[in-house]
Amino acid sequence: MAASGAIGTFRLPPLPTIREIIKLFKLQAAKQLSQNFLLDLRLTDKIVRKAGSLTDAYVYEVGPGPGGITRSILNAGIAELLVVEKDSRFLPGLQMLSDAAPGKLRIVHGDVLTFKVERAFPESLKRQWEDDPPNVHIIGNLPFNVSTPLIIKWLENVSQREGPFAYGRTQMTLTFQKEVAERLAANTGSKQRSRLSVMAQYLCRVQHVFTIPGRAFVPKPEVDVGVVHFTPLTQPKIEQPFKLVEKVVQHVFQFRRKYCHRGLGMLFPEAQRLERTGRLLQWADVDPTLRPCQLSVSHFKSLCDVYRRMCDEDPHLFAYNFREELKKNKRAGQEREADRESHSL
Ligand code: SAM
Repeated sequence: MAASGAIGTFRLPPLPTIREIIKLFKLQAAKQLSQNFLLDLRLTDKIVRKAGSLTDAYVYEVGPGPGGITRSILNAGIAELLVVEKDSRFLPGLQMLSDAAPGKLRIVHGDVLTFKVERAFPESLKRQWEDDPPNVHIIGNLPFNVSTPLIIKWLENVSQREGPFAYGRTQMTLTFQKEVAERLAANTGSKQRSRLSVMAQYLCRVQHVFTIPGRAFVPKPEVDVGVVHFTPLTQPKIEQPFKLVEKVVQHVFQFRRKYCHRGLGMLFPEAQRLERTGRLLQWADVDPTLRPCQLSVSHFKSLCDVYRRMCDEDPHLFAYNFREELKKNKRAGQEREADRESHSL
């Protein structure tokens, strides 16, 4: 009953429709900012229901725009809603909602990529990591070019229990381009399995809860949209630093159609590549001929644990970057070539 609210809880009074708000405040979507608005309040209610019970919750909405999802959250029995919006054109419309919901809506004109939500809600909401999730939720329909970097940043925050996760295992309900939503939730062996699947699933329970057809947005985007719910796990499935896991996962998936040993090999300098890749795979007990999409999170755990041991034994290894070695070799080759030419003159 989250979005429709229980009897006796707050409900917004009658207000102009979102379409009327857009007209009233001349809020044409800015194409360069990838703004696509949801006007159908049944859909925004559905997104908010997927966040779970919001009774007495503190909610952080990212990118409220004309306020469709904002209205659904305000009707869900929450204690307080904090919205962060970058585009100042939306502030008067949001202020109208704030006036209609006294004491419930806090509006910040700012950027979600830098906003520090860990200072925004009462300390008393904090829970131990192992406890049930705190009554703090993140909800948002952001442009796709913001939602992907933001989820990577938040996954790193999950691993360090900081940012929005300073409150505990804060749940998130966010929209993504449908293909990205599918990748985030993809199981081992599926075609959509990717870097994002492993990075999200080693830290969170990830559910692609439903898909919104592109035609539900104004203006209509080129693609459909997936709504994804994340609950951080009490125990991450890989217990190594985020940057180390990211490096291993990125290397594996850079040659996604090849056997996994191909990408893993690039973790090591050329001179020892064959021998050290063999050792990594053997110690991790991973079949070198598995394709990247066939590797489970537990395969990645073994690979990361062994790679960590190898990095501890060789302090230069983690900083090694095969692209820099390639560039250096290319430059050396060009210099040798130039030398040969000058001698033959
Ligand atoms: N949530 C509204 C809806 O569903 O109709 C608007 C969705 S629109 C796709 C994305 C919104 O995020 C826009 O209002 C845009 O101005 C805002 N936005 C984009 N980048 C942002 C950022 N970095 N920080 C805060 N808001 C941002």
